[in-house]
Amino acid sequence: MNLFDLHGRVAMVTGANTGIGRAIAVGLAEAGADVALVGRTAPTETLAQISHLGRRAIAIDADLASIEPVNRIVDETISKLGRLDILVNNAGIIRRNDLAVFTEDDWDSVIDTNLKTVFFLSQRAARYFVANRSGKIINIASLLSFQGGIRVPSYAAAKSGVAGVTRALANELAPSNVQVNAIAPGYIVTNNTDALRADETRNRQILERIPTGRWGRPEDIAGAVVFLASAAADYVTGQVLAVDGGWLSR
Ligand code: NAP
Repeated sequence: MNLFDLHGRVAMVTGANTGIGRAIAVGLAEAGADVALVGRTAPTETLAQISHLGRRAIAIDADLASIEPVNRIVDETISKLGRLDILVNNAGIIRRNDLAVFTEDDWDSVIDTNLKTVFFLSQRAARYFVANRSGKIINIASLLSFQGGIRVPSYAAAKSGVAGVTRALANELAPSNVQVNAIAPGYIVTNNTDALRADETRNRQILERIPTGRWGRPEDIAGAVVFLASAAADYVTGQVLAVDGGWLSR
């Protein structure tokens, strides 16, 4: 028996056109899952990589800045791929600004995309999972689920909220055999962190603090998602697993 085998399972990954979301979607497909890719930008490269693996993938166009599309996203996944077993809430944005000039939009846009939509998409998927008495929800949290960060207060608030929502839903859904966990990526090379690498001082300070001595790659996150999505993690729920090269242990 392969505890990590996902053949016959259907996963939905938000924000899978690039970065961590693409690596997660491809990792789940490598483990055998078919995948719905949800987002506002066509996930052309991700679709190609998954079809190359011989798995099915569909793209669902949706702007996750509001909760308006959540019912449609879940319904379309089930009607086109036949079922839903795994939800990965990955899509997210960040706004960097000094406190004195942080705007209402810097606050609302991050909280809406990174926290509100995560909750309501999970709620919609959970209705289906509870009826099936099976399902996995995996939220992409952050080191800022544990720390305050620098000039990113709405992001720290949203990601701390994601950790709280993960534990709250884990409690409520455990009796229905639905597991809810989160992954806290460390500093990963994606669009989200371009500005940090462009700042020579920040880049050096970050690298010096990572015990593993390198930035993470999107692929570093995929294995942890496959684990949490699989039968190997059936007794794991309510956890926020750091995949951070040792950052939080320092
Ligand atoms: P990224 O390359 O910027 O990817 C973000 C993804 O979210 C993109 O697919 C983006 O789509 C999508 N997205 C953003 N707003 C959306 C919206 N309104 N509707 C639909 N999709 C939307 O950054 P990433 O680093 O891979 O981020 C993925 C997740 O990891 C995020 O939740 C982020 O907070 C988290 N994370 C990243 C790091 C890191 O070091 N990189 C560390 C901790 C946590 P578009 O391409 O259309 O914008």
